[in-house]
Amino acid sequence: TSNGIFDAVRHRLTGSSPGSVRAVDGVNMELRRNQVQGVIGESGCGKTTLLRTLMGLYEPSGGELYFHGEPVSEFSKSDWKDFRRQVQLVFQDPFNSLDPKFSVRRTLAEPLQIHGLDYDKERIVEMLESVGLTPAEKYLTRFPSQLSGGEKQRVSIARALITEPDVILADEPASMLDVSTQAEILNLLNRLTDEFGVSMLYISHDLSTVSYICDRINVMYLGRVVEEAPTKELLTDPKHPYTDALIRSIPIPDPHYVRERPDIHGEPGDPINMPTGCRFKNRCPKRMDICDQKPLDVTVEGEETRTVACHLYYDHDATDGRVQDHQP
Ligand code: SF4
Repeated sequence: TSNGIFDAVRHRLTGSSPGSVRAVDGVNMELRRNQVQGVIGESGCGKTTLLRTLMGLYEPSGGELYFHGEPVSEFSKSDWKDFRRQVQLVFQDPFNSLDPKFSVRRTLAEPLQIHGLDYDKERIVEMLESVGLTPAEKYLTRFPSQLSGGEKQRVSIARALITEPDVILADEPASMLDVSTQAEILNLLNRLTDEFGVSMLYISHDLSTVSYICDRINVMYLGRVVEEAPTKELLTDPKHPYTDALIRSIPIPDPHYVRERPDIHGEPGDPINMPTGCRFKNRCPKRMDICDQKPLDVTVEGEETRTVACHLYYDHDATDGRVQDHQP
C-alpha cells in the first residue's frame, strides 16, 4: 500500500531459525506508518524468528520483505546501511543489552557515529530528557551498573530513537521489569511513538500489554498469523478459537466476575512435525472434518479490515472463496 513501511503481505514470508524448524511459515503482515502493531503468541510460536527476519538477520527461505515498497532482497550495501539506521530494536533484557563499559553518553553517541550523523552533546541531552531521564546531565556519566532496570530500558529506548528511525522493533521490552516500571515504559513508548512519528512492531506473549499499546494485533500460532485485527475489535469480538482462548485467559481482578474458562487442552504442536491442515486443530473445541485441510486467510467484514485463518469463516460454497461475517 502507499503508506506501508514494512510489508510482507504480497509474498508470504517464510523463515526458519537455524536447524530444521520452520519457525515462521506463510506470514502475511504489514506495518503502516505511525502505527503500533502487536504480535502476540505463546513461546515457540515464531515471534523471535519473525523479528530477526524483519531485522535482516535471517534470510527468508521463501517470500519477500518490503521496506518502503522496496524488496530487501535487492538492497545494495548502502540500502542496508540506511535500513540499519531506520529500523531500530529495543531488546527484552535491559540488564544485558547495554555495554557495561560504556557510559550513557557513549551509549547514545555510538549509533550517531556509526551512521555518520551529527554528534553533539545537546542532542544526547535532549534525548535523555525525552525518555524522562532528568536532569540529563546527571545521567551522562553514569554506567549501566549505576542504573535501575527501568532507567536502563529508558537508555535503550533513547539509543533506538536517537538515529531518528522510521521503525522500532520492540521485543517484550517491559517483560523483565517490575509491574509499576512496566506501566511507565509502556506509557513512555506510547508517547514517544506519537511524538517522533515512529511505527512500532511490538512483540510479546502478554496480551494485556499488547492490547494496551497496540493499534492492531497479529495473533501467531505455530509460525502462522491466525488472526489480524484492530485491537478493539479483536478484544471484543475475537474470531479465531485460539484468539478467543487467549482473551479468556486474561485474569480479571474482580472476584464477582466469573468468566467461562477457555476450552483448550494439550500442548502446542511440535514445530518439527507440524500437524497437517489447521495447526490448532488438536486443541480446538470447534474442530470439524475440513480442518484437516489448511485454512486460508479470509477477510472478515467489519468496521475495519481484519483477517482470520479458520474454516469457520470460509465460505466453501462461494467460487471466489469470499468470506462470511457470521458468528459460528
Ligand atoms: Fe478450529 Fe478448524 Fe478453525 Fe482450526 S480451522 S481453528 S480446527 S475451527
